[in-house]
Amino acid sequence: MSSTTLFYLILAILILEFLIETVLDYLNAKSFSKPVPPELEDVYDAKEYARSQAYKKTNYNFGLLTSSFSLVVILCFLTFGGFQWVDQVVRGITDHPIGMALLFFGFIMLGSDLLMTPFSYYKTFVIEEKFGFNKTTKKLFFLDKVKGWMMLAILGGGILSVVIWFFQWAGSDFWLYAWGLIAVFTVFMNLFYSRLIVPLFNKQTPLEEGSLKEKIQAYAQKVGFELKNIFVIDGSKRSTKANAYFSGFGKEKRVTLYDTLINDLEEEEIVAVLAHEVGHYKRRHIIANLTVSLLLTGFTLFLLSLFINNPEVSKAIGVEIPSFHAALIGFGLLYSPVSQLTGLAMNYMSRQFEYQADHFAKETLAAQPLIDSLKKLSRNNLSNLTPHPAYVFMHYSHPPLVARVRRLGA
Ligand SMILES: [Zn+2]
Repeated sequence: MSSTTLFYLILAILILEFLIETVLDYLNAKSFSKPVPPELEDVYDAKEYARSQAYKKTNYNFGLLTSSFSLVVILCFLTFGGFQWVDQVVRGITDHPIGMALLFFGFIMLGSDLLMTPFSYYKTFVIEEKFGFNKTTKKLFFLDKVKGWMMLAILGGGILSVVIWFFQWAGSDFWLYAWGLIAVFTVFMNLFYSRLIVPLFNKQTPLEEGSLKEKIQAYAQKVGFELKNIFVIDGSKRSTKANAYFSGFGKEKRVTLYDTLINDLEEEEIVAVLAHEVGHYKRRHIIANLTVSLLLTGFTLFLLSLFINNPEVSKAIGVEIPSFHAALIGFGLLYSPVSQLTGLAMNYMSRQFEYQADHFAKETLAAQPLIDSLKKLSRNNLSNLTPHPAYVFMHYSHPPLVARVRRLGA
């Protein structure tokens, strides 16, 4: 295919994806006014429900503004030779392929992040603030940003450098080596994320002795689950929204509870949330997710290897001298419909896993405390009780509350 055809294909992909997203958002917004299912009538009182409606509408409008702005920026950048301009600047600094790629991605990512910063700033300090969720200070907000950039520069830059080095050394076969590298990195991160990355952003402390810990341990023992690492994370320094998650496997497995979760829920409800997390582990969801994402990475890298040597892919984004970094961006844009489809499949799988973990909690503990905790968390997050089915199908990694409550109650 010629670079001109590819260029128009990229534009078509960007516009079509924007239109699909906008229609989905619109459908979802229209279903805000649907009646609340009888099972969920006790989630909000009238006043809180009005507040959740206002929150959803605000986010809908803001999302529309953000996505339109992003689309206009990327279309202008493509049409007016933005990538070619960055490529020229980079070539004026170095002619080393790895150095060029690092600078090229560095400029583009920093530039796009700076452009989007006013939006995330507004979201945090105006929208989340107005609805009482925000606890982040301006200092913490910018500190998080700088830390995020540094982490991306070190980890992303490191991996990109090695991948390009593989490419120079092994040609089109580089994808196999890159796959190996990314696989090792992914497994390593899965194991040590909580130890190495989380402490950069949060404070984690072992769950203190007391009745909650005793209840959790009694439950863990009952289901034959060795659980030594239960940590509490200071999520409250950023937001009032609560969460809990499971990470790692083998000896490194641990459960992390947000301090907000501990404040909001009764002990029995926290044990139910934990039982759900244990269900993910017992049903081998952690390993399944890891396996699927590794296979997907291999598939993506293999496809990349078919395109990376094609000079038309670099030219499609307006870059005159073909290179690994330009072809990588071109490929990323062309690949996006495929990643939308794989994302859809992953979300579907994830929703099935959620039902299974809920079921595990119901079997090994009880349904009612989990139902209560899910409802409380929905109320505290001003969650949408009536999402549109098409929106759920495309975007939800968890089933909507009503579906979970119905299954738990069945
Ligand atoms: Zn879950």
